[in-house]
Amino acid sequence: MRVMKFGGTSVGTVSSLRNVKHIVENTSGPVVVVVSALGGVTDLLIKGARLALDGMEWDETLRTVEGRHRDIVFSPLVAADLQDATWKEVSDLLALLRNYYTGISLLNDLSERTLCNVVSLGERMSSLIISRIIDDAALYQSMDFIKTERWFGKNIAVTDLTDSLICRRFSDLGTSCRVAIAPGFISTDRDTGDITNLGRGGSDYTAALIAAALEADVLDIWTDVDGFMTADPRIIKEAKVIAHLSFLESMDLCNFGAKVIYPPTIYPVFHKNIPIRILNTFNPEAPGTIITDEHKASSLQLFRGVTSISEVSVIDVGETESLRAPELHTRVLNVLSKHGIEVLLSASALKGMKAAVRRSDAAAAMRALREDFAGEGSEATSPSLDEHADVSAISAVGENIKLHPDTSCRLSDTLQDAGIDVITSATGASGFTFTMIVPQALHKEALTALHRLI
Ligand code: ADP
Ligand code: ASP
Ligand code: MG
Repeated sequence: MRVMKFGGTSVGTVSSLRNVKHIVENTSGPVVVVVSALGGVTDLLIKGARLALDGMEWDETLRTVEGRHRDIVFSPLVAADLQDATWKEVSDLLALLRNYYTGISLLNDLSERTLCNVVSLGERMSSLIISRIIDDAALYQSMDFIKTERWFGKNIAVTDLTDSLICRRFSDLGTSCRVAIAPGFISTDRDTGDITNLGRGGSDYTAALIAAALEADVLDIWTDVDGFMTADPRIIKEAKVIAHLSFLESMDLCNFGAKVIYPPTIYPVFHKNIPIRILNTFNPEAPGTIITDEHKASSLQLFRGVTSISEVSVIDVGETESLRAPELHTRVLNVLSKHGIEVLLSASALKGMKAAVRRSDAAAAMRALREDFAGEGSEATSPSLDEHADVSAISAVGENIKLHPDTSCRLSDTLQDAGIDVITSATGASGFTFTMIVPQALHKEALTALHRLI
């Protein structure tokens, strides 16, 4: 059996959903189809909640969400005799949305829990409608089998429990229906049963959890580009499709910013050795990208792709008499990991160390380090802490980087030659990703210069 995931870009309109229907109905055997909210709907749902919180008019946003779904339900894609009943079910979810917005504005409060309820409606509506569009399909409610728990203020999947719930729920697939439609992104808390989600872009991860639990033959991620590309095609026009990638390369490309797959997605399928294909809903004949456990790149190729995380902060930590650089380095990494903060890069510096984190994590990182160093005595004797915002992390990724020890010098030199200052750089834990921190204003120039080397 196979698992397919269609992102918001693929399920946004009547015409794109026609392609989805065609693609799914032309597969054979049992298939699980994971779907995102209609393109742009998650953003609209959040916008309405923020307007309600600010005491502003949210009715128009709700009407836009309603209109987007109505256009699909009353299109020829849904059989005429199913349209009214389907619209009644969608309307019940829209009524819930109206209640949430009313509650947010009356209470002047928007908790994370409420926002999770609000955004869940996007996938709940899209999956319901898509289950009425595709022949021989039934709706499987992901909130019943994708379970999360709290970890440093985030919801993360509880994989063992999720695995067994998926196996149980899908045991009838192929007998009761050929196609299971499951909403991506949404989940419930294992202890409280509250609605949660896997994070923005998380439908890819839902599909991977299902593929891994059911030991699928393949996980197909259908999106709006011809495959995994050598760079973000919105930034680098010359970016090309990469025919084959190894799991490890794709994992680093995604961890270091390639938006095409949500980063935690690759791990569960990698673990079960299930290939991933990246395919284009709008060009289904294109071969796409296949990701497997093999590494097939020619040894002449320096690396496979460039990626970037544009909003980064570098934290500079200065050593003291009692806390010298090597010990300081370990201490900083320990503190940040204890607080669940991902360090994109860490490097020794003259009289201290530097750690790069996502800008959205910078305030928490500074707070955690400040608290930890408070035990070191007075402000004057504890390590100094400085945050440099306005920087980006640019990475070159490829297993061949291990074969060519001079790659890091070539990459840094290329940026220096282009007049771009490399603030700090390091090779990642995998050994085949080289990351450089550059001024954010030169982020595109840096990517362009490195991309020419592929
Ligand atoms: P979906 O709605 O299908 O989940 P996303 O917007 O999350 O789609 O991901 C697809 C987009 O990722 C593409 O439209 C492309 O602009 C962007 N992207 C960024 N980096 C890459 C890359 N290296 N290869 C392919 N696409 C990329
Ligand atoms: N709808 C969610 C989002 O926009 C999840 C997804 O599309 O994967 O982030
Ligand atoms: Mg996505």
